[in-house]
Amino acid sequence: MSTNEGDRITYTGGMIQVPDHPVIPFIEGDGIGPDIWRATQRVVDAAVRKIYAGQRRIAWKEVLAGEKAYHETGQWLPQATLDTLREYKVSIKGPLTTPIGGGIRSLNVTIRQELDLYACVRPVRYIAGVPSPMREPDKVDMVIFRENTEDIYLGIEWPSGSPEATQLIEFINRELHKHISVDAAIGIKPMTKAGSQRLIRRAIQYALDHHRRSVTLMHKGNIMKFTEGAFRDWGYELAQTEFADRVVTEDALYKEFNGKMPPDRILLKDRIADITFQQVLLRPSEFDVIACPNLNGDFLSDALAAQVGGVGMAPGSNIADEVAVFEATHGTAPKYANLDKVNPSSLILSAIMMLEHMGWNEAAEGIGQALEATIANKIVTYDLARQTAGAREVKTSEFADAIIQALA
Ligand code: NAP
Repeated sequence: MSTNEGDRITYTGGMIQVPDHPVIPFIEGDGIGPDIWRATQRVVDAAVRKIYAGQRRIAWKEVLAGEKAYHETGQWLPQATLDTLREYKVSIKGPLTTPIGGGIRSLNVTIRQELDLYACVRPVRYIAGVPSPMREPDKVDMVIFRENTEDIYLGIEWPSGSPEATQLIEFINRELHKHISVDAAIGIKPMTKAGSQRLIRRAIQYALDHHRRSVTLMHKGNIMKFTEGAFRDWGYELAQTEFADRVVTEDALYKEFNGKMPPDRILLKDRIADITFQQVLLRPSEFDVIACPNLNGDFLSDALAAQVGGVGMAPGSNIADEVAVFEATHGTAPKYANLDKVNPSSLILSAIMMLEHMGWNEAAEGIGQALEATIANKIVTYDLARQTAGAREVKTSEFADAIIQALA
């Protein structure tokens, strides 16, 4: 369907079809959201205009969520917003406040669950000039695929002493012969084979498509054997049934290939979560694509972001088979709202991911290079300026201006 402004992105045979004037919904976000969204939109529009010489243009379509939605409609996340995100296939959002009370656990989690955005994809790559606590941050180049719809993130839990917790504990103790204290709080951790395998399939396919070297299944299966342990087992099973001629497991590498990687294949390995946190710090070059369950992936994403400059520098996306929502990975940082102060890089880098997803690689590359050149020239917002000797501290909008100027 076509509007006066533009046309819809569609899918044919599983392949994305992007018109020259796609309609892309955006959620500006709360707190610092409007500041970073304005900067991002200006940078993307300038790059697309310049690189495609006016032949391509994004028709932005605002949809409401968070505080702005609540003020205008009385709802934090109107159904119309979810419908639009689903219908237009590709969208981008700023951070959203988590409402206190009102029955919504988190707007972000609700969007992911309602649209079944099962893969949270977070690339973590170092940009030269960004202050980092690592000695060799340029060795950090990983892409995390975190399961987004299962695990204890589903929020199935009951407080200590509640009738539900008491009933469940009595049942488990009586029928399943366990010994849970009657005053325990209870949370449930469901993980399915289908849910785990669609995430791992996506991670392996990404690694193959992007010529990466390995996929690591990160899990805590030594303790949680039937949930996280099963995640690992289902991953190996999937590799065997669907990618047998493209994937080599660590075991097979030594038994069948004498320790030498055959060409055109990727290595599939697994690591326990706790040691992974140590090894990504000590030996980052051993990690490439990482697939993990929901909660572990949440921790790992922010820990890795810290290695390359913090959440202000980390992009993210939430992806289903035909719907994708790109987003800043940090929160609303309310104390900086409307000060034109914070770093818009997380949202700009997310927009780069969005353009790559659309196949507009020239625009994605153009923005990436301009952003890197701006940081290399030490033109940065307060967060990087405070850690960079000789930096010129600029406002959010001025940082966007500098990137636009640097567009080749
Ligand atoms: P936050 O908003 O991410 O802010 C924590 C700190 O991170 C800030 O005080 C600032 O540190 C730094 N920071 C965040 N964004 C930055 C940026 N763009 N540029 C530079 N520095 C940045 O975390 P929070 O204070 O825990 O959460 C605030 C609200 O956001 C809550 O309502 C939370 O639920 C929500 N939230 C939303 C999302 C989302 O929408 N995806 C994610 C996380 C949290 P300094 O003050 O040290 O400079």
